[in-house]
Amino acid sequence: MKDRDSIMETGLLKMELKGIPRRTFIKYCAATAVALGLDYYFGGLFAEAATTALNKKPVIWIQGQGCTGCSCSLLSSLNPGPGEVLLDLVSMRFNSTVMNAAGHLSIKALEDTVKEGGYLLVVEGSIPTRDPRYCVVEGLPFDEIVLKASKNADAVIAAGSCAAYGGIPRAGFTGAKGVSEIVSGKPVVNIPGCPLKPDWLAGTLLYYLSFNELPPLDSDNRPLAYFGSHFVHDTCPRASYFERGQFLEDWNNPATVDWCLLKMGCKGPVTYADCNRIWWNDGVSTCIRAGSPCAGCTQPQFYKDLAPLYVSPLPPGREDEAMPVAQRARGIHAGSVALGAGIAAAPFVINKVADLLKKKKEGVSHDGE
Ligand code: SF4
Ligand code: SF4
Repeated sequence: MKDRDSIMETGLLKMELKGIPRRTFIKYCAATAVALGLDYYFGGLFAEAATTALNKKPVIWIQGQGCTGCSCSLLSSLNPGPGEVLLDLVSMRFNSTVMNAAGHLSIKALEDTVKEGGYLLVVEGSIPTRDPRYCVVEGLPFDEIVLKASKNADAVIAAGSCAAYGGIPRAGFTGAKGVSEIVSGKPVVNIPGCPLKPDWLAGTLLYYLSFNELPPLDSDNRPLAYFGSHFVHDTCPRASYFERGQFLEDWNNPATVDWCLLKMGCKGPVTYADCNRIWWNDGVSTCIRAGSPCAGCTQPQFYKDLAPLYVSPLPPGREDEAMPVAQRARGIHAGSVALGAGIAAAPFVINKVADLLKKKKEGVSHDGE
């Protein structure tokens, strides 16, 4: 039997053949460790765990009510390609989006893996509960597939907002639910996002392969390091405009193109995610930097209770309250206080902000620690 070093060497060589230099991969692992709140030294451990996991950790990936955007986000990412990390380093036994087999052949692969046990289950898309005919996969209602596939799983990853909390389908008529509302008795990690950021999934997977457990989670079962400690607003490049009360109101006015997007519907002050700290697509950009308000896509309340997307959450005629309230509240959490004070149309935001302020006062973080 090959020793660990030679297995790792084989893994790194395989990556190089795919065009991912080993140095790039090891650097990626180190950056992932740091993003998860660990020392960069753990990058070596991540690289070792990933490369020695070759053909070891079986993965079942199933997809229900969704647009395949999360798979696309993962597979179209740039070097070193978290998609390669996922698809090459683990043993993908069943993936309804990319596998060649179909029908009873693919169901057999699924059943054999379930029988073996010890695999990771990734669910993409939400689960309709009103009528099983709303989503049928390989001839079976999707809720049945989820229960069947989770039976012997070590852990379940709900990939994307639909699988995590119901996402956009939850706003419709199918009774769409997230994984943890269906599956019980298994550790479930939610990696929301519409779509999810590949780094969030790759980092969670690398952590799991390295420590054989899920990373620390927040109260909404999201990895704490990516979602638990900061609002999108906290590190927004437009925050100084928010503080000065300079809000973009006309998309076509080049003079205000960099101003705060609050009046255009930005939910950054009530959305937990690291998007403005670690940009998307290998650090190329992120929603707000690209000119789009944050839609709050990583929140359990997305989409239904954060809609409409491009409309100010502040009632007409009261927009300017944001600025003075922000000034008064400096030192607590200016963005959240301002949004909460002015808002009338979205009770969730008021409640969330009130809750946040109460916890702040009591010295408790939002995840209860
Ligand atoms: S409201 Fe949105 S655009 Fe404005 S500073 Fe906050 S996160 Fe940035
Ligand atoms: S900035 Fe907001 S809408 Fe964009 S990906 Fe991050 S959480 Fe989602």
